[in-house]
Amino acid sequence: MSTLRTAVTGGAGFIGSHLVDYLMSKGHYVKVFDNFSAGKIENIRQWMSHERFELYKVDLKDRNAVFEKLKDVDVVFHLAANPEVRLGSQDPYAIYSDNVEVTFNVLEAMRLNGIKYIVFTSSSTVYGETNVRPTPEDYSPMEPISVYGASKLACEALIMGYAHTFNIKALILRLANIVGPRAQHGVIYDFIHKLLADPTQLEILGDGSQRKSYLYISDCIEAIYHLFMEFTKSNTLIEVYNIGSQDWITVKEIADIVVEEMGLKGVKYRFTGGVEGGRGWRGDVKYMLLDVSKALEKGWRPKHTSQEAVRLAARALIKEVGKC
Ligand code: NAD
Repeated sequence: MSTLRTAVTGGAGFIGSHLVDYLMSKGHYVKVFDNFSAGKIENIRQWMSHERFELYKVDLKDRNAVFEKLKDVDVVFHLAANPEVRLGSQDPYAIYSDNVEVTFNVLEAMRLNGIKYIVFTSSSTVYGETNVRPTPEDYSPMEPISVYGASKLACEALIMGYAHTFNIKALILRLANIVGPRAQHGVIYDFIHKLLADPTQLEILGDGSQRKSYLYISDCIEAIYHLFMEFTKSNTLIEVYNIGSQDWITVKEIADIVVEEMGLKGVKYRFTGGVEGGRGWRGDVKYMLLDVSKALEKGWRPKHTSQEAVRLAARALIKEVGKC
């Protein structure tokens, strides 16, 4: 495939807008579908008048609008979702409708409008609390411990069912924590905002020993693109990959990096202690490290460690906040 006609749902959001930049830089056609619930026009402004770019301001929960507008593309990069893992314990319906209903609507539009490929950004949270780390793609039982993780697993199942029934080719990518400029959620973003409000102390959810893998946004985008291009050369109907860095870092270490990058001294850490043995909140997976050897075998390699990713992201986000 040379020039692709692509749709990016959630294309004005954090990961989506970086993917849009990448696809545009490679000469592809890009249609962005976003309701701007979290996405920002600034993230995609640079492409607004480009001849290969189109913006559809659509709520993907609006089934008819999706059927009518999501067409004439080769591939849907389906990123639109509610990515707030914590929200699931307060408003499970929001997670269900933004993730599962929206994915159903996207798949229906693909079926009705004859779109061949879907690339879905799933999550490490589909595994739940694992006893094998690094965790491979075929780990079982898959038992999410958050409504968010459950919703992503439900989306995967729907996509697989549609793939087999309607011959839609599906690439499912289970992402670790992705960090970088334009992020508007996650631990680094939270720490920066808390420290701006009070530079003398930092509340840390849980006991600070939660340890997870963080991947820099450029490594994530390269993985999405590279694995999709490889997928188009294969005859398989469905492929599933873990995407993350090969190391991990604790929440306390992240706090240290953010504090250092903000140039602060003597910040007092206040650990909430969390729930159930030091988790940040109910549904927070305490230890997460993905086995990415399958993606490595396909020729993708992350350029940054978790620690480097966190530092680069903290630096970029601090700069962004300074511009507000
Ligand atoms: P984000 O909130 O920045 O982006 C999501 C985008 O989807 C936003 O622009 C939002 O406006 C849009 N959106 C949400 N609901 C919509 C709807 N009903 N109709 C149209 N647009 C809608 O989040 P992100 O961090 O960029 O996440 C992108 C994807 O990657 C999500 O599917 C998320 O579950 C997945 N993911 C993210 C991470 C991470 O660490 N950021 C990790 C694993 C998986």
